[in-house]
Amino acid sequence: MIIGHQQVISQLRHAVSEDHIAGAYLFAGEPNVGKETVALYFVKSINCLDLVHRPCDNCLACHKINTGNHPDFQVVRPEGKQIKIDQIRQLQRQVVFQPIEGRRKLYIITEANRMNLEAANCLLKTLEEPPARSVLILLTSNLDALLPTIRSRCQIISFQPLPVPELVEILTDRFSLDADHASSIAVLSQGAVGKALTLIEDKSLTVIDQIPEVVTTTDRLSAFRIAEQLGEDLTQLDQLVMWYRDLLLIRQSTSVDLLTHRNHLESLQQIAKNYSRIHLQSAIKAIFETKRLIERNVNATLALEVLVFKLMRTE
Ligand SMILES: [Zn+2]
Repeated sequence: MIIGHQQVISQLRHAVSEDHIAGAYLFAGEPNVGKETVALYFVKSINCLDLVHRPCDNCLACHKINTGNHPDFQVVRPEGKQIKIDQIRQLQRQVVFQPIEGRRKLYIITEANRMNLEAANCLLKTLEEPPARSVLILLTSNLDALLPTIRSRCQIISFQPLPVPELVEILTDRFSLDADHASSIAVLSQGAVGKALTLIEDKSLTVIDQIPEVVTTTDRLSAFRIAEQLGEDLTQLDQLVMWYRDLLLIRQSTSVDLLTHRNHLESLQQIAKNYSRIHLQSAIKAIFETKRLIERNVNATLALEVLVFKLMRTE
């Protein structure tokens, strides 16, 4: 099931139905936004045996692709932290042959930005002269980390996260979540459907029912202590986003129905007066950025201290 990305899908369907398929694609977008799901859909569309419903998800070819057993289809993933030159060389040895069963030989390279320089330069040779009847689909969440020479030889397709209200609707309609739960998940996933789906399973996403100190205090002396407490359990950052989002919604006079912490409405209305809309927007952005930094092994203590000072800044 593909959620969203209608424009991308129709572009790819058109390429398949017109048999106007490029030799190399680069799918770019945030992690878990749906690049790999759509790439798999595209791969099946190309080699599906049912010419009416491509992909049918039912024929032998679709079945083999779904189970990773199609002789003309392969996924290349990083081994450890990198995609190494040996993996690319192996791809190159196969790609030159004619497809065995399908219309084309198909390769998905996930996290293509993790190719080391050697591997990237090696792949470049294939991209410069792509063998007939082969399609390479590179996926990346970081377009800038790819060599410009690689980017320029691929057809780039951008993946946008779903707008939060649209995702809330899908989560309530198709996944039967209640409105509060759906809106927490939509905000925390920032519209990335794959992330939202894992959050549905995540039981740790319970709503903390006490306004966090950093939201209420202006006492800068407590900043270090608050940062230290946040460091003890980083899921608090997700909770924090929900509180700032509520403040932002109040500041924007949006319907109260969308608030996560409706039971704190009066206190939140008081607190919201202390913050501008811009401050609240940048607070949310700063929390997400801090999460990303910590995931990338930046010194967590320092990152959290910087964050807390940012959050406490009043205008
Ligand atoms: Zn099929």
